[in-house]
Amino acid sequence: MTLSIKDQNKLDAFWAYCVKNQYFNLGYPESADFDYTILERFMRFSINNCGDWAEYCNYLLNSFQFEKEVMEFFARLFHIPFNESWGYVTNGGTEGNMFGCYLGRELFPDGTLYYSKDTHYSVAKIVKLLRIKSRLVESQPNGEIDYDDLIKKIQADNEQHPIIFANIGTTVRGAIDNIEIIQQRIEQIGIPRDEYYLHADAALSGMILPFVDEPQPFTFADGIDSIGVSGHKMIGSPIPCGIVVAKRKNVDRISVEIDYISAHDKTITGSRNGHTPLMMWEAIRSRSLSDWQRRIKHSLEMAQYAVDRFRVAGIDAWRNKNSITVVFPCPSEDVWKKHCLATSGDVAHLIATAHHLDTSKIDRLIDDVIADLNAQAA
Ligand SMILES: *Cc1c(COP(=O)(O)O)cnc(C)c1O
Repeated sequence: MTLSIKDQNKLDAFWAYCVKNQYFNLGYPESADFDYTILERFMRFSINNCGDWAEYCNYLLNSFQFEKEVMEFFARLFHIPFNESWGYVTNGGTEGNMFGCYLGRELFPDGTLYYSKDTHYSVAKIVKLLRIKSRLVESQPNGEIDYDDLIKKIQADNEQHPIIFANIGTTVRGAIDNIEIIQQRIEQIGIPRDEYYLHADAALSGMILPFVDEPQPFTFADGIDSIGVSGHKMIGSPIPCGIVVAKRKNVDRISVEIDYISAHDKTITGSRNGHTPLMMWEAIRSRSLSDWQRRIKHSLEMAQYAVDRFRVAGIDAWRNKNSITVVFPCPSEDVWKKHCLATSGDVAHLIATAHHLDTSKIDRLIDDVIADLNAQAA
């Protein structure tokens, strides 16, 4: 099995392209400052984590022992006793959200899922796949859910078992729904705590909030029932992945015994990536708490630097508290394309991911945006 010279050249060209563009990303939340070369030797094995890492599996090439330690880490991070939690390494934030919504729907089969207009596009798809009744809720200008509209819609629907999809860091504006207010307001209208479900979509901010001085409420101690985080965003990974953590008692309700794999099936997919748990394990084992704090502080400072520079130039840029996402008026197409920015309506954003060690890329972008917006205004 060998490749032709032509095909080898094609791969070499792609290699050079990847090296050149390794740190290009300023518009999306993917961090590029990772190094998993220590794991490269495992690429020769068909590692498959199908089933539950907590149980025996007939398929010997699994990385369950590493996945277990990853889940221990996240249970601690999200303030739930490990033995009361269950979760796994997913294919990404979307799968984690789907798992959370699935648990909510199994708990409350007739419940309606409420999510704000700023929610990630994956949720509309999840709602269709799971056939959950759903309601779109208005957002506030900063991207946070409109609490009045949420309560108004729950009451209008006469919904007794709402399933709340809370954003812990929205995709476009980095906004955090206040789950303390959500819980207070729901309980004020007479729905007790065990009659509704609360999932936290923390794709990006789930790895920011645990390491800041004044986090908004987002953990199990604060009242969530499940949480999804992306592994390829704040943590960084060459293969998209994620983490989901839920309450064990809710997961047990969906668990099915499978004789073929001699294990319990409770995950969305069958075969599961066995390499990404190794990467997540390496990422958490190689950094101390203060390493994470320093890395996140750096990103937050870079984001604030960008806000300040824009503002000095008279451009209305801003960011939400504890967010590395900087929102500003959308520049012309040639500017946002040149810098691979994500745009939404009349805004664009940059995300101060951790691989931006200095301000050079951010400065180039800001220079272009300032020149462009000033030219538009003139
Ligand atoms: C990125 C993102 C997702 C989806 O995560 P994937 O890892 O891309 O599947 C979900 N929610 C939010 C808020 C996101 O930013």
